[in-house]
Amino acid sequence: MYIYNSASRKKEELIPHTAGKLNMYTCGPTVYHYAHIGNLRTYIMEDVLEKYLRFTGLDVKRVMNITDVGHLTSDGDTGDDKMLKGAKREHKTVMEIAKFYTDAFFEDCKKLNIKTPDVIEPATHCIDEFIRVITALLEKGYAYEAGGNIYFDTSKLDKYYIFNDFNEEDLAVGVREGVEADGNKRNKTDFVLWFTKSKFEDQELKWESPWGLGYPGWHIECSCISMKHLGEYLDLHCGGIDNQFPHHTNEIAQSEAYLGHPWCRYWFHVHHLNTGDGKMSKSKGEFLTVSLLESKGYDPLAYRFFCLQSHYRKTLEFSWDNLDNAAAAYSKLVARVAPLYENVTDEKTDEAVFNELLKGFREALDNDLNTAQATTALYDVLKADAPAAAKRCAVEHMDYVLSLGLAEAAKKLLAGKAKESGDIPEEVAELVKQRAEARKAKDFAKADELRAKITELGYIVEETRQGTVIRKA
Ligand SMILES: [Zn+2]
Repeated sequence: MYIYNSASRKKEELIPHTAGKLNMYTCGPTVYHYAHIGNLRTYIMEDVLEKYLRFTGLDVKRVMNITDVGHLTSDGDTGDDKMLKGAKREHKTVMEIAKFYTDAFFEDCKKLNIKTPDVIEPATHCIDEFIRVITALLEKGYAYEAGGNIYFDTSKLDKYYIFNDFNEEDLAVGVREGVEADGNKRNKTDFVLWFTKSKFEDQELKWESPWGLGYPGWHIECSCISMKHLGEYLDLHCGGIDNQFPHHTNEIAQSEAYLGHPWCRYWFHVHHLNTGDGKMSKSKGEFLTVSLLESKGYDPLAYRFFCLQSHYRKTLEFSWDNLDNAAAAYSKLVARVAPLYENVTDEKTDEAVFNELLKGFREALDNDLNTAQATTALYDVLKADAPAAAKRCAVEHMDYVLSLGLAEAAKKLLAGKAKESGDIPEEVAELVKQRAEARKAKDFAKADELRAKITELGYIVEETRQGTVIRKA
């Protein structure tokens, strides 16, 4: 597989450090609020990547952190602590907030068919690790103590800026965030490894350390959690594009200073979901979450389908119209898949036919995870002149990666249809037909009257996105 490596800014063949195995690290959520669907786009695309790597036969181990301490409202070391802010807002303790929003995050992931990583590690479980690595960085001369905090000294590196397409001045943390500079820093790009002195003395979570009672900076947690579970050589690091700088740059700085050799080979960054067109969300005060999509009648998998239709390195424009189009296309896709589940026999699939059906799909994803083209390849399979069993088998393999829940949705659709045409008495079927005509003519009073009659006969009519469904009350 070829993948765009943000560190080299080139498409490169993905070759793991150890043949046949692949180590993958993902920056997890800061659990102070619900995940925005823009954040979830990143996790969806990473999920496709992970599953495709498994699909190609690699033995993947994936680790994700949960940031439950140390992430300030600026990605530099300024502003309020996000966790503390969440706790204050909801009059709860930081740990209660962390538990609640960690659960909410994985609940959203489940609805979006995002696989749970092999290892999930909250930052608060790794304090000893952080202290150990920070101690080593101090011993090696890469860190210094000033004003009670421990800082990483970026001037000690030959090359600090990675992922730098920009002017260094613009990127300087204090300048970018428009906040007061930290007078303890020797260089403006230095960052905090351990806080003991901060402006929020009411920080709930503090731990003993050689430098006094305090808590870790945000960047150190990802380096330590990754090294703890995946060792000294990381194959692939993922995250949203907004984590490139300063977060990932700082992860590289401290990991390589600590290890004394290159750390992570490939960097995968998912671009933004753009919701700022003024017409929606912010002006209406809507916070775009999976629950909000559901409350508006959208299947979360329609959102996943929407994300797959564009490349992860392009900004994706979200609007309700765009989502409507994706939802309609998703329903149509399910309807196209459904016939493959009618009259299923256990016919064996010829391997050559199967491989031929999957060729376009593999080519699309081998080329920097082109999910839009992979979706087109799925339609090509549905159109292909091949036995239904082979097509079904190919679609199921593709959907292991795309995870659109196609088989399940198709079976549900067929079950609904069977109920509609099957054991429904003629009298009820006739009323349903008349009701459909009344609705078409926009005679809703008559439609309601007919619905009442249907109910009297012991049946329920429901409008679903797959069409009208009739079932016994
Ligand atoms: Zn991270």
